[in-house]
Amino acid sequence: MAAAPTAAGAAARAGAPAGSYDAIVVGGGHNGLVAGAYLARSGARTLVLEGRYKTGGAATTEAPWPDAPEFKVTRLSYVMSLLPPTIIKDLDLARHGYKIYPMGPYYQAFPEGGSIKLYADDARRNHEEVSKWSKKDADAMPRWDAWLAGLAEVLGPLLLTVPPNLGSRKPRDLRETLRLAWKNRGLDVRTVGDVTRLMTMSIADLLDDWFESPQVKGALAVNGVIGTWAGPYEPGTAYVMAHHSIGDVGDGHLGNWGFQEGGMGAVSSAIESAAREHGAEVRLNARVARILVENGQAAGVVLENGDEIRARVIVSTLHPRTAFLDQIGREHLPPDFLGDIEHWKTRSGVVKINLALAELPDFIADPGSNLQEHHTGSVEMAPTMDYIERAFLDARDGKPAVRPFSDGVIPTAFDKTLSPEGTHIMSLFTQWVPADWSEEPHTAELEAYADRMIDCYNELAPNFKASILHRDIVGPHEMEQEYGLVGGNIFHGELSLEQLFHMRPAPGYADYRTPLPGLYYGSSATHAGGGVCGIPGWQAARAAIADQKSARRAEQVRKLTRRS
Ligand SMILES: Cc1cc2nc3c(=O)[nH]c(=O)nc-3n(C[C@H](O)[C@H](O)[C@H](O)COP(=O)(O)OP(=O)(O)OC[C@H]3O[C@@H](n4cnc5c(N)ncnc54)[C@H](O)[C@@H]3O)c2cc1C
Repeated sequence: MAAAPTAAGAAARAGAPAGSYDAIVVGGGHNGLVAGAYLARSGARTLVLEGRYKTGGAATTEAPWPDAPEFKVTRLSYVMSLLPPTIIKDLDLARHGYKIYPMGPYYQAFPEGGSIKLYADDARRNHEEVSKWSKKDADAMPRWDAWLAGLAEVLGPLLLTVPPNLGSRKPRDLRETLRLAWKNRGLDVRTVGDVTRLMTMSIADLLDDWFESPQVKGALAVNGVIGTWAGPYEPGTAYVMAHHSIGDVGDGHLGNWGFQEGGMGAVSSAIESAAREHGAEVRLNARVARILVENGQAAGVVLENGDEIRARVIVSTLHPRTAFLDQIGREHLPPDFLGDIEHWKTRSGVVKINLALAELPDFIADPGSNLQEHHTGSVEMAPTMDYIERAFLDARDGKPAVRPFSDGVIPTAFDKTLSPEGTHIMSLFTQWVPADWSEEPHTAELEAYADRMIDCYNELAPNFKASILHRDIVGPHEMEQEYGLVGGNIFHGELSLEQLFHMRPAPGYADYRTPLPGLYYGSSATHAGGGVCGIPGWQAARAAIADQKSARRAEQVRKLTRRS
């Protein structure tokens, strides 16, 4: 694979026999597509193999109601923030349809009356809003924002850093460890302390240090529990909040999120279109059964239909249990690594509820079903920290939450492509049901859970229930069976402390390489994942391209030395 521009790649492809490839990417989720695009851009003859009838994986737009195909929903992931400008620019994604509407404020209406809105970028209005609940908290808000911005300056660049293999004595690993230490030499004692707090505290304890009002703390806690199998009092949830607060959607406003026009599937389509333009082939309904191994190297893949396709480089973007435990013979992987993957934590207890609405929710606290600012951002069901905690405790005790927590959004506040004029789509990201619901469909119980979730919103906006035209419920079992999200975890693995940075997906293999030469790994279970950020796919492709370049250089040196 030459690290050459597209024209050279096209030339290389022109001379190659049909159906032969330099690189195969397993999985056509957004990370697989990013990897495919970068590999093809480097000149490699690249094939992306997707098991489903369409690409996108968890970043997908679908029409779940056969009788109402005019309604489209972002069936799983629903908002963008973390895709770095480098990838957007390199792949020219705007030209391929990447178009984001920055979303409005976090909005929470309260059962006891009143509401709060929190803005990503408007300190004056935040002060007004928070003052309704606590003057002290309103005054603390700018300091909190500045504190988070300071931490984002440290953590943001780390997202694009390849984690070093800490503890390894190999010269390359020692060099990378030193390079990371050098890059962060500017950190002072205070900042290191703040990062330590962020990494180890619960979001509840952290917010207690800053704020007093339950309403403000409830609103700010949301990002700490998104997709986690942990309530707000669990250590590590402060970091989850940071992970969801350091991106921006290209408008320069930290922590802001946005809606992709056409839903999240349009992000995947934009990346797919860029990959194809660079010459990648994308094959659908092409489920990979196993990775071929020859002479201790990855040598290709075998599809479920028995077809064998060979390539020198394989990039897998599947869940780690699937990629390493199901698709590679155990004899090809070291026991320590296998043990780490077997112990990989992959629970969430998330249920996605997608709704088609005849009209917008008419909140008692902010009346009117005409489009207003509070419909344009997150429409939360997280009135207090204790409310969120209760929902988690129910699920940990083995029952679905009686009153679930929800991060709701109404993308049609901006995006008119998803539903007919005058109607809306509402997407509810809800928690929790028991984590082991990934093992069985639990259909009737999920219906009852969705009823309760809808009732909670109906208490705040009494037109809500009657406005629902269609509903679609995706629980952990469907996430695993249909989308390959083992255990129903939304990120291919929990963002718990022991699964971050140099530990993601396993110590010694956080550099997007694997124990099997020729096999690279770029799913959300690697550093910077999860989320629709494309970084794992980008890094895995870069690792493969760099290794091929070194191998070519070594070969040239060998030839020269033989001649002389
Ligand atoms: C309910 C939910 C809500 C979320 N909300 C957000 C959000 O709002 N914002 C955000 O940034 N992130 C969100 N996420 C997380 C984010 O969507 C994921 O982290 C990300 O999409 C994963 O991308 P990926 O490419 O690594 O994997 P995937 O999207 O899982 O892609 C893997 C692909 O491999 C395919 N595949 C599986 N097995 C095989 C096989 N044997 N052969 C070939 N192909 C196979 C799958 O069909 C899939 O297309 C959410 C996730 C979920 C589930």
